[in-house]
Amino acid sequence: YAAPARRCGARILRHTEVTGIERRGAAITAVQTTLGPVATDTVICAAGAWSRAVGAMAGVDLPVQPLRRQIAVTEPVPGLPPDLPMTIDFTSSLYFHAEGPGLLVGMSDPDERPGFATDTHDRWIPRLAAAMERRAPALLDLRRTGGWAGLYEVTPDHNALIGEASTVSRFLYATGFSGHGFLQGPAVGEVVRDLYLGRVPFVDVAPLSADRFAADAPRPEVNRV
Ligand SMILES: Cc1cc2nc3c(=O)[nH]c(=O)nc-3n(C[C@H](O)[C@H](O)[C@H](O)COP(=O)(O)OP(=O)(O)OC[C@H]3O[C@@H](n4cnc5c(N)ncnc54)[C@H](O)[C@@H]3O)c2cc1C
Repeated sequence: YAAPARRCGARILRHTEVTGIERRGAAITAVQTTLGPVATDTVICAAGAWSRAVGAMAGVDLPVQPLRRQIAVTEPVPGLPPDLPMTIDFTSSLYFHAEGPGLLVGMSDPDERPGFATDTHDRWIPRLAAAMERRAPALLDLRRTGGWAGLYEVTPDHNALIGEASTVSRFLYATGFSGHGFLQGPAVGEVVRDLYLGRVPFVDVAPLSADRFAADAPRPEVNRV
């Protein structure tokens, strides 16, 4: 994505933090960064788990909370079908898919509390093992060879925030994917492009507006994986 974007004229500043957003009234005038100010009238917030802080810089509430999520990687599994689909047990949220010659296994941990911690721990393993034993006992025979923790970027209804702020001119956002942003990324990119250009996106994203969480907004239907 970065290479074609550069070919189209985008300039990507790596390791550069946005530290503030300047406004004149409802209009954005500049973004402050650790490399200095960037004059602009438009900001697109795609800051994942950190989006609430970035939204606050512009005076826009983006209700996104960071939540640690861990995965485990197994030793190579002989005879793994090359077309093994990502498999989810909806009852427990246990899932697995091929990761190199082994499997990547994950599951939600109801004991996690919001926060930016990304160190790993084993407190989720007993619950994971119980779900494996119930749904796919052969997984218990596999040795765990690694794993890591990252941050889910969770909204109150576990659906994304995609849209344009109603109170600040030209503050767009695409965030809060609640752990499903990788698969949604390509389509969301097209939608945000159209929102930026003032075109009607190929899919109606109005229900994903952050305004749905305003105090007087009706509660949306909850869909969770
Ligand atoms: C263990 C785990 C497993 C997952 N599995 C899946 C999966 O199977 N399928 C799936 O679809 N999704 C999965 N996800 C979720 C997926 O990784 C996220 O939904 C996705 O990465 C969100 O993308 P994003 O671009 O919105 O945010 P991010 O990828 O978090 O990117 C946000 C970027 O904003 C930058 N940023 C933040 N604040 C600032 C600032 N002030 N200035 C400048 N830059 C800033 C950050 O450095 C970061 O680079 C998983 C997540 C975890 C943790």
